Amino acid sequence: MATNITCSFCGAGKTQVSLMVSGIDAHICDTCIVQAYDLWQQEMQPRKKSRFHLQLAKPTEIKRFLDQYIIGQEKAKKIISVAVYNHYKRLLQKPKDDEVTIEKSNVLLVGETGTGKTLIARTLAKFLQVPFAIADATSVTEAGYVGEDVETILTRLLQAANYDVEAAERGIVYIDEIDKIARKGDNPSITRDVSGEGVQQALLKILEGTIVNVPPQGGRKHPDAKMVQINTENILFICGGAFEGIERKIANRLETRPIGFGSQSYGAKTAQANQDLLEHLTSQDLRSFGLIPELIGRLPIVATLQPLDAAALRRILTEPKNAITKQYKKLFEMEKIKLHFTDEALDVIVERANALKLGARGLRAICESMMLEAMYELPSSGIKEFVVDGEYARRQIEKVYSLHGKDTQAKAA
Ligand code: ADP
Repeated sequence: MATNITCSFCGAGKTQVSLMVSGIDAHICDTCIVQAYDLWQQEMQPRKKSRFHLQLAKPTEIKRFLDQYIIGQEKAKKIISVAVYNHYKRLLQKPKDDEVTIEKSNVLLVGETGTGKTLIARTLAKFLQVPFAIADATSVTEAGYVGEDVETILTRLLQAANYDVEAAERGIVYIDEIDKIARKGDNPSITRDVSGEGVQQALLKILEGTIVNVPPQGGRKHPDAKMVQINTENILFICGGAFEGIERKIANRLETRPIGFGSQSYGAKTAQANQDLLEHLTSQDLRSFGLIPELIGRLPIVATLQPLDAAALRRILTEPKNAITKQYKKLFEMEKIKLHFTDEALDVIVERANALKLGARGLRAICESMMLEAMYELPSSGIKEFVVDGEYARRQIEKVYSLHGKDTQAKAA
C-alpha cells in the first residue's frame, strides 16, 4: 500500500519527493507544502499590517549608531551613512515626482580581513530593521555548474525576511570576497579567466535592478517548485573584499613605487604607505585588478577600511556596545561572579591578535581559549570575584597559541 502513495495535489509519487505528509484521506509532498505556504503568505499579506516600516534617519544618526559598534573606520562609516541615506531616500521618491530619478548606489568595501566590513553591513541592517543576508562570492558559480546559483543569495534574503517579499525587496545583502572572483591577469584578452568573469556576470544580473526568479528554498532540488519573483531594484548590495595587492595597481597608475613589495621588510611604515595608496583607489584600479567594468559600474560607492592597529584592537575589546569583554562579564554576572580584566591582560590579548594577523577576527578565538578554564571551573567554585590579569592571560593563551608565540618571539629576536 505504501508504494503507491501519491501527492493529492500534484500527483508525485512517494519516491519522487523528499517528504510526504499523510492525512486521513490525502497526502501532500514537500514541494506542495512550500507552494501552499507561499499562497497563504500572499493571501494574508494585505491583511497583515506590513512589519516593514522604513526609517529615514539622517546620515549623522546612522553614523552615530555605527559608532556604537564599529571602532575607527571613520571615513568608511561616513561614506556608507550617506550612501544608505540616499539609497532609502530614493526608495521614498514617488516615481512620478519629476524626471530626475536617483539611481541605485551599491557599495564596495575594500579592506583587509577582520577590519569590520561584514560588521558594518550587519550593523546597518540592524539599524534600519531590514532583512539582511550574507553571501560569499566564491560559492557562486555560473548557471549550470556545480555550486550555488546566484539566485540562492536572494533565497537567503527571502528567508531572513521570513518570506515577506516586500520586506526582502528593501533588504541589504552583503557579498563577501568579491575580489576572489576577479579575472586573473591584467589583460583580459590574453589571460581570460572565464569562470571568474562568468560569476561576475551572474552577480551583475542581481545587482542591477531586475526581477529575479528565486527558488524559495534554494538549491536545485525541485526544478518545478514555484519560484518567487523578487525585484532587486531597491535591494542594497554591499560587496566586500581585501583586494590584496591592489596597491601595486594604484602605484603603477600613479607611477609611484609601493613600498615593501618584493623585499622582506614589511613594517608599520610600509603598511601606512600602502594604506595611503589605497586612499587613491579608483575604478580604473579595480578594473586592472580584474573586475569587469559593468560590475564596477554597479558599485559606484567605494570605501576603504584601515587595518586595525593595536590601539584599535584594544578599544574593540572593551568599547563596542557588545564588546567581547562585556559579553564575558555578563556571562559571569549570571553566575553572580564579578569579572575584571586588567589593562595588562588586555595588552596580552592584543599582542597575540597582532601576531596572528587576523585583524579583530582573532580576538574572539584568543579570548575563548583564555577564558576556557575559568568558564569551566568557576561556576562550581563558589568564587564571587575573578580577576584576569596579565599573568593569567599569558598562561592560558600560551596553552593554545604557544607555538605561534615562540615563532613570533623568534622572528623578533
Ligand atoms: P571582515 O572585514 O573580514 O568582514 P568582520 O566585520 O567579519 O571582518 O569582523 C570580524 C569580527 O571582528 C567582528 O565580528 C567584530 O567582532 C570584530 N571587528 C572587526 N572590525 C571591527 C571594528 N572596526 N570595530 C569593532 N569590531 C570589529
